[in-house]
Amino acid sequence: MSSPGILRIALPTPLRRLFDYLPPQAVDPKALFPGVRVKVPFQSRTLVGILTEVVSTSSISHEKLKPALELLDQEAILPPDIYQLCLWAADYYHCSLGEVLSSALPVLLRKGKPAEAKTKWPVSGGSTEPQLKLNDAQHYAVNSVCEAANQFLPFLLDGVTGSGKTEVYLRSIASMLQAGKQVLVLVPEISLTPQTIERFRARFSVPVAALHSGMTELARLKVWLGARANEVKIVIGTRSAIFTPFAELGLIIVDEEHDQSFKQQDRFRYHARDLAVMRASILRIPIVLGSATPSLESLLNVKRNRYTLLTLPLRAGDAKMPEYALIDLRSAHIEEGMSDPLLQAVRHHLAENNQVMLFLNRRGFAPVYYCTECTWMAGCKRCDTRMVYHRTTKRLQCHHCDAQSAIPIQCTQCGSTALQPVGLGTQRLEQLLTKQFPDTPIIRVDRDSTRRKGSMQSLLDQIHTEPKAILLGTQMLAKGHHFPNVTLVGMVEADSGLFSADFRAAEQMGQLLMQVSGRAGRAEKPGTVMIQTRHPDHQSIQTLIHQGYQPFAQMLLTEREQAILPPFSYFAVFKAEAYTEESASGFLSMIKTLCAVAKETITVLGPVSAVIAKRKGLYCQQLLIKSNQRGVLQQFLKKLLMEIEKQPAKQSVKWVLDVDPVEVG
Ligand code: ADP
Ligand code: ZN
Ligand code: ZN
Repeated sequence: MSSPGILRIALPTPLRRLFDYLPPQAVDPKALFPGVRVKVPFQSRTLVGILTEVVSTSSISHEKLKPALELLDQEAILPPDIYQLCLWAADYYHCSLGEVLSSALPVLLRKGKPAEAKTKWPVSGGSTEPQLKLNDAQHYAVNSVCEAANQFLPFLLDGVTGSGKTEVYLRSIASMLQAGKQVLVLVPEISLTPQTIERFRARFSVPVAALHSGMTELARLKVWLGARANEVKIVIGTRSAIFTPFAELGLIIVDEEHDQSFKQQDRFRYHARDLAVMRASILRIPIVLGSATPSLESLLNVKRNRYTLLTLPLRAGDAKMPEYALIDLRSAHIEEGMSDPLLQAVRHHLAENNQVMLFLNRRGFAPVYYCTECTWMAGCKRCDTRMVYHRTTKRLQCHHCDAQSAIPIQCTQCGSTALQPVGLGTQRLEQLLTKQFPDTPIIRVDRDSTRRKGSMQSLLDQIHTEPKAILLGTQMLAKGHHFPNVTLVGMVEADSGLFSADFRAAEQMGQLLMQVSGRAGRAEKPGTVMIQTRHPDHQSIQTLIHQGYQPFAQMLLTEREQAILPPFSYFAVFKAEAYTEESASGFLSMIKTLCAVAKETITVLGPVSAVIAKRKGLYCQQLLIKSNQRGVLQQFLKKLLMEIEKQPAKQSVKWVLDVDPVEVG
């Protein structure tokens, strides 16, 4: 069917195709050009899509084509570099273009609101801070980044916590601002604190805006528009800020580049760090990936000369690296998770009027509620998991679906009342510490203690005003904060990362251990890190504490190369969920059969149950697709998806494809 103007529109649906419509009535055809938003009828709903092309023929007959309802923009809503980034991402992650474009827009624009909002951008700072004298390594790093202006050059800035990476960012930014450029800084969810933003605002006399999920939709839209109009000069944001439009973007910085929160875990499963590198390449600008514990992916890119390595080997100023001590839990006397040597050390550091930080990556009071007569354990009705005992709320909670129940008085299996919480969570550790140190403030930082708005801030304020205190928390406490009075860090349980089904567990354990250690002895006070473990001789722990992160990471890289695991091979995972295990695994077995044609170049593993085999009442199965060449995998997945989409639709199975998954187990 031929017609002078048919609109080919990308719609926010998971369907991997574009949709044809007739132009809206009484709209000048000249106003219809690619990139504008259009409102259309779709099934029984109204959707906002983006016009990709005006074509003259459609595979659908003219009578069946519906007219679009409304044209929403007078100019393309996304600038060309973001549009191109979205095209690339839709192809790479095998996601529908409509869904990708829609994710790139602030929610209000997705809903069809006009792309306008008035804001005055206040300017607060302008260097009152005295200018530090950079050390040689910092100086070299700043120079390298500044010399790369207007070229695509990716840098890996590898420097221990406190080595002055942020100072390198600030100086590089200053030079970009002077050249009339804007800068995008991506940080993990957890480290985007008011202090972080304040440090940037204090330094520059230009508008600096934050962008994160805690903001209102209107506030986010304002930042988006402000950056596009070149009013906001610096945007500091979490994952999705990678889609912020800029008029004059000159530099991208990704801090804590190894952090898993850069990977989106539902629908459009992009990795913001990888998209950031792609965006820098599209715009031909430099990008700095910074970390104290770089990902193996980035370290391999350095080895292969794709990234330039910049190293900050020493702590800035006079701060010293901490000392490590291993406590063998097999021989130590232990009370509620704390060994005698660790308790003694805590006492000693408090007596010196210092702060102590204890780290335990499990919130709640106890992970298991157990019958001592018949070994029954309280489980979640909807998930294949145990209920966690919470003492503060006096309830059992599932950490996977948030289901809650009253604490049972009797065992549901044998009727006994001999029920007990077993195992250690942050609340239980807090109880022990309160008993042991009744006169010391104990400040607990975890998801439960920071749930209310503003509570994280008040805990942080308290930490900064109490000279002597015990800080106790999950990984929330491990990341990004400056606690200059902490002289002792205790890892209450280091072993969970050593033996895991996920091949990335050791890497993550090492990163976390380094992050935690980075909290100790930042300023003039030297720090000690005590690690409780049942495996003090484990090669990973030994290498990490005696030689540091780099040799540890190189050791892991060798292991990955020998096992042909990422980043030496490429993974994609199909994840399926259904009300019966058979439906989920049956669907994946069908995919596995379709993969047989490519068995020379593609390896398929599974289907197997996910680590949590059942979640919110749904059985979760997965199928791993692996290849030694990225291009081969990409081409194959494209064909495979077309085959899958030809199969009769299975309403009962929900599935997704995750390219470069960060959690495989
Ligand atoms: P990182 O981002 O690597 O953790 P920062 O940039 O936050 O490190 O620096 C850690 C501390 O050292 C900060 O208090 C900072 O002001 C200070 N610092 C950074 N560079 C220098 C320097 N060249 N001389 C003295 N102090 C410095
Ligand atoms: Zn029982
Ligand atoms: Zn549950």
